[in-house]
Amino acid sequence: MARVALLAAGVDCIYFLFFLVVDSPWLAWINVLSVAMYAAAYRLARRQKLHGCALLIWLEAFVHAVIGTLMTGWDSGFHYLLLMFIPSVILTNSRRQSLAFVVALLVFLVTLDFLSRGLGPLAPLSASALVALKWLNITIFISMFSSLSLYYRRKIFQAERSLHAQATQDALTGLYNRRHFQLVAEQELIRCQRTGSRACLLMMDIDFFKTINDTYGHETGDQVLISVARTLKQGARAMDTLARWGGEEFILLMPDVDAAEALAVAERFRQAVERTPIVFSSGEIFCTLSFGVTQLERGEPLSTAVGRADRALYRSKVDGKNRVSHE
Ligand code: GH3
Ligand code: MG
Ligand code: MG
Repeated sequence: MARVALLAAGVDCIYFLFFLVVDSPWLAWINVLSVAMYAAAYRLARRQKLHGCALLIWLEAFVHAVIGTLMTGWDSGFHYLLLMFIPSVILTNSRRQSLAFVVALLVFLVTLDFLSRGLGPLAPLSASALVALKWLNITIFISMFSSLSLYYRRKIFQAERSLHAQATQDALTGLYNRRHFQLVAEQELIRCQRTGSRACLLMMDIDFFKTINDTYGHETGDQVLISVARTLKQGARAMDTLARWGGEEFILLMPDVDAAEALAVAERFRQAVERTPIVFSSGEIFCTLSFGVTQLERGEPLSTAVGRADRALYRSKVDGKNRVSHE
């Protein structure tokens, strides 16, 4: 918002210079008032009073377009500036309000046209100055309209990215969520079936996590989840898909890896987690992971492979935790 106010003040400086050059000094000095309004809008934006700032910016643009048209005539093209309201109003209001605004704007433009032609320009310019002013106004309108469109385009892309992240990622760890993992893994199963390539699943569960929560509190538990996720992410390959499967369970899909290689990867992860201290406000703790490893079989549904990895994980737990089992 502060940048918009500065940009608009810059545009008014251009008008100021233009009217000095075409020898209409008092038209030039009117623009100093506009710059003062934008300076006030800038101050409001810096103080986070965005509503007031927006109101001042739109008020100035509206009054500027109307006074400009009445002073220099319809052919000066000042009325183009009024069209800049359209995208902002439509994007921030309901359909009915937007429609009412567009109709009101149309009626206003027709009235302004009749009025300005009826009265004639109150401060007439020479024919060449009028043509130059018209193209200056059209250029300013196109530049501002394009900047506004780019701004909204950026906002839409940001919203899209944020929605995609919300739909596919776990908010706490930033890893993929279970739903996204299932989609990717189903695709991978289809690929394995078609190409005959191998892939493995690693199911992982933090040991004694409830005790960590009970001893150090839920927030420290969250820090443990974030730290383990980071360690696993660092150890995974770019082509692997790592996700948070549930509470303190993680799952990793490794394409083009056989059971022996997957067991080695799991052992590497186990050691990495065991060695990595988790630092929190009142000290540091260590935690361990138990693993269940399985190789995907051609043609089987994902749930069957997950079930096998889960059974292997259960065996790791029963055998004493902090270990790797395979089924
Ligand atoms: P085991 O060694 O056999 O795996 O036991 P455990 O204590 O790790 O597992 P258990 O299933 O008994 O407890 C898991 C706990 O994880 C219970 C639940 O409150 C906690 N939990 C689940 N999600 C979160 C979370 O997002 N944050 C935190 N801090 N705790 C969570
Ligand atoms: Mg568990
Ligand atoms: Mg656990």
